[in-house]
Amino acid sequence: MTYDLVIIGGGIQGVGTAQAAVAAGHSVLLLEKEGIGAGTSRKSSKLIHGGLRYLESAQLSLVKESLHERALLLQLAPELVKRVEMHIPVYQASSRSPAKIAVGLWLYRLLAGFGEDSEFVRLHRSGWSALDGLKTDDLLAVYRYVEAQTDDRALTQAVWQSAEALGAELAMPAQFRGADCHASGCEVQYEHNGREMSVSARVLVNCAGPWGADLLKHIQPTVTVPEVELVQGSHLLLPNRLQHHFYLEAPDDRRAVFALPWQGRLLLGTTETAFRGAPETAECLPEERDYLLRTFQHYFPGYSVEPNDVSSFAGLRVLPRANGSAFGRSREVLFQADQEDQPRVLSVLGGKLTTYRATALEVMERLGPSLPRRRRVADTARIHLTPP
Ligand SMILES: Cc1cc2nc3c(=O)[nH]c(=O)nc-3n(C[C@H](O)[C@H](O)[C@H](O)COP(=O)(O)OP(=O)(O)OC[C@H]3O[C@@H](n4cnc5c(N)ncnc54)[C@H](O)[C@@H]3O)c2cc1C
Repeated sequence: MTYDLVIIGGGIQGVGTAQAAVAAGHSVLLLEKEGIGAGTSRKSSKLIHGGLRYLESAQLSLVKESLHERALLLQLAPELVKRVEMHIPVYQASSRSPAKIAVGLWLYRLLAGFGEDSEFVRLHRSGWSALDGLKTDDLLAVYRYVEAQTDDRALTQAVWQSAEALGAELAMPAQFRGADCHASGCEVQYEHNGREMSVSARVLVNCAGPWGADLLKHIQPTVTVPEVELVQGSHLLLPNRLQHHFYLEAPDDRRAVFALPWQGRLLLGTTETAFRGAPETAECLPEERDYLLRTFQHYFPGYSVEPNDVSSFAGLRVLPRANGSAFGRSREVLFQADQEDQPRVLSVLGGKLTTYRATALEVMERLGPSLPRRRRVADTARIHLTPP
């Protein structure tokens, strides 16, 4: 049998692509070496968000698309994606003034099409004391706006379930070993339960996240490896004493750090640390832990933390290679095909959890010339997602 698509990687991009492909009537085999949602897609900040800060780097189309997908996911997956009220405190020393934050939130509203979740307020100062012990010295304003939060791994598993229900097949644990591509597709080799297997695919889709660039070296004829680098983002989990969600500015370097109640714990993150090494060895470094705790305790001086109560995890962003800080770098997904007009191998790297569905539609559009016409069986904008 020849599958229309063989997809490597059961992270959000792989399962999203599987869902879009089976919905479009195609046959799909997904290869996953460890578990659905076992990679980066369980190590995110767990936000389904528009990405307010991307406005500053003028990534307007990403913000607009994210806000659209956020609205859709709130409808399609109400048990998995929940609205939260995010608070942005603005101090005398903050790098952005209250007026600048307000302009950003207006623009956010505009890009959200003035939908019901786009309203924001500037809290009256009498309400500051109810904000979980937030430092009020030199505080100028606190803005509240709406975002959404999820369990990233459960969301990934739910998307996979929906793809499987439409006929997508899974080999797991299955490690991609290599592929030989020819005019009409690829012969794909993988190891499944200790056995060497081979399967034919019209197209091979590389959704292996931080492993994705390396994996391309095992494809014949040679394909260009995209110019990417891995940037680690760590999070801490602490005992939670907050009622509210906060978007803070790290005093050290002015980066955004979130403090978010999540599943009974407090999630603090994230960092940006250049990473070299095997992706599975990523772990929170002592300096990242100090940075996150220092940032949090700057704003919540009364919050003491016992070292034994802190756990951590680290994920890897796949970003376009460039000089300078990773903070302002594009968070758009990176596509790379072996041949633009009729791809046999398409890599889908980076991007956002929030926009997985839109990304998958774009994948299908790019693969259109390489795939036979099939009868569509579902629309991903209407598929309800239920917890795994
Ligand atoms: C620190 C951090 C915070 C983030 N926060 C957010 C956020 O709050 N909101 C948001 O929208 N986005 C966020 N993102 C972005 C988002 O989490 C990622 O873009 C997304 O999870 C990437 O998914 P993926 O499917 O590309 O990769 P992964 O989830 O890493 O999936 C790749 C899969 O490929 C498998 N694999 C690898 N090699 C092989 C092989 N040889 N054979 C078979 N299988 C293989 C792996 O086991 C893995 O399961 C964040 C990212 C990071 C790093």
